Amino acid sequence: MRGPLPSDLPKSRDGYHWTPHDGVSQGLPTLAAIRPETNVNSPRQVYDVIVVGAGYAGLTAARNAVREGLNVLLLEARDRIGGRTWSSNINGYAFELGGTWVHWTQPHTFREVYHYNMKDELEISQNYTTGVNHFQLITSDGVKTMSHLAEDKLLESAVKKFVDIDGNLGRTVMPFPHTPAYNPDVAKWDKLSMADRIEQIKDDLTPAEKAALEGFVLLCSGGTPENTGFYDILRWWALGFYTYQGVIDTCVTFKFHCGQSGFAKRFFDEAAGSKKFSYIFNCPITAIKDNGKTVQVTAQSGRQFTASRLVCTIPLNVLSTIAFDPPLPKAKQEAVKIGQINLCSKVHAEIRDRDLRSWSAIAPYDKLVYAFGDGTTPAGNTHIVAFGADLNPLHPEDDIETTKGAFNHLAPMDVQRLVFHNWARDEYSQGAWCMFAPSVGTTFLDALRARHGNILFANSDWATGWRGFIDGAIEEGARAAQMVQQELVDPHPTPRTQIVGSKLMFPSIILYEHSLLAPGYSRSYLCYMKLRSKVQLQAPDPKP
Ligand SMILES: Cc1cc2nc3c(=O)[nH]c(=O)nc-3n(C[C@H](O)[C@H](O)[C@H](O)COP(=O)(O)OP(=O)(O)OC[C@H]3O[C@@H](n4cnc5c(N)ncnc54)[C@H](O)[C@@H]3O)c2cc1C
Repeated sequence: MRGPLPSDLPKSRDGYHWTPHDGVSQGLPTLAAIRPETNVNSPRQVYDVIVVGAGYAGLTAARNAVREGLNVLLLEARDRIGGRTWSSNINGYAFELGGTWVHWTQPHTFREVYHYNMKDELEISQNYTTGVNHFQLITSDGVKTMSHLAEDKLLESAVKKFVDIDGNLGRTVMPFPHTPAYNPDVAKWDKLSMADRIEQIKDDLTPAEKAALEGFVLLCSGGTPENTGFYDILRWWALGFYTYQGVIDTCVTFKFHCGQSGFAKRFFDEAAGSKKFSYIFNCPITAIKDNGKTVQVTAQSGRQFTASRLVCTIPLNVLSTIAFDPPLPKAKQEAVKIGQINLCSKVHAEIRDRDLRSWSAIAPYDKLVYAFGDGTTPAGNTHIVAFGADLNPLHPEDDIETTKGAFNHLAPMDVQRLVFHNWARDEYSQGAWCMFAPSVGTTFLDALRARHGNILFANSDWATGWRGFIDGAIEEGARAAQMVQQELVDPHPTPRTQIVGSKLMFPSIILYEHSLLAPGYSRSYLCYMKLRSKVQLQAPDPKP
């Protein structure tokens, strides 16, 4: 159990807070709020790179480009970093408004966890040691109370039936979740929605399995049974090692004690430590024009900025608000028009009841479909996190009584505080984590990932691996920065044959290393180091 966190932080205008004493207010204290909002006095004429968006994709792209010695301008519409992932410290406790849980099987995230020496800052959300220690399934038939072991058994059995499309729990159809189209058969399954798949297996499911499965899949998608694509659920399943426990471990278990903004701030601070890094917050972008040699962006304020390359990390559901010149290719436009379907709600409640620390519930047809004890606040209260889906939309800021009622419908509780961010109504995300409708993944992923002249697109919404996760955002930011590096820093890389051939030159190169004291050694030494790093970076030859 670690100590309380600092609470005396600047406020972002994002997020909402409610207590019986103060009512609802907008804006939350957070490490993510950046003051002053800019470090730019007189903008450069032409930057190397402009990065639009300071979520994890933008922070990674900007930081990596700065590391390469490039002049970077980061432009962000909000007053804070983190995009769909940020936390607020309230009375010494971190409430996660968006992205929360990470896992060591998320390679891009864990590389950063190690880079910032934060592996010991993780904690486990669930605590099934004290209190009621049970799960409740809530349907119109009443409330079924069972142990967490029975909860796991129920969900495991139901989810296995859902994903078992090949007699191999999905492994044959999707052997590589990072390359989901590896087996072309997957396109057939991508036509199905969650509702279609449940219809196929309904006779195989007990009523409890069906209800638990519906709650679980709606938790994953934040949509409706009709618009949730089966393919994305199968992808999560594959990423979770084709096991129910794997999905729970990877998606809702390990979080930072300091909150996600403590992690994101490390990225920002590293970039800000360089003189090459400029940033402007409160700077929404409205237009992006590629002039062939340079790219010009126009902000809502009318200010314009120019760079050799632009990394656009604006989320899928927001891209239609930007005027691109030349216009985006047809396939990308189509994908943008369809968008992603996750309009979930995520609401935190601080409650007096300590016994509910070990409680969890699924109520598939309610405004909150999934909830569990997520921590204990420094005041000794229980923190409950709850999720709703678009099937039954909840906008807590409109109606606190309905929101408290939704918690109390799950279990009687004495709500002392609510904390939330309404992602469905958020202008700069227009949805939560990315979930695709049927056929979108197999039809549009390549188009979404494609560049448009000097404009590169990087966002978790079209990552290949943990798409819709923090890991996917970091993957994408790193991809964009690498492309920029290859084009602006290292535009004429040594051809592969020469690099491989250079291994033979090692003895003579080593001689350079030993002639460090000779005049002109430093250039030779640097040449050698560069060559050596290239040799090490070579991918092994593909197997015949
Ligand atoms: C409720 C919720 C729960 C989640 N839970 C998890 C989880 O537990 N684990 C996990 O790994 N992931 C989770 N995710 C997903 C994860 O948060 C996202 O996938 C990830 O943060 C996306 O990062 P990004 O940088 O790709 O996009 P974003 O974070 O959306 O960043 C894009 C940035 O662009 C900015 N922007 C938009 N429009 C403009 C404009 N016109 N001008 C300038 N800037 C603009 C936005 O303000 C934003 O800062 C969750 C998300 C939500 C919402």
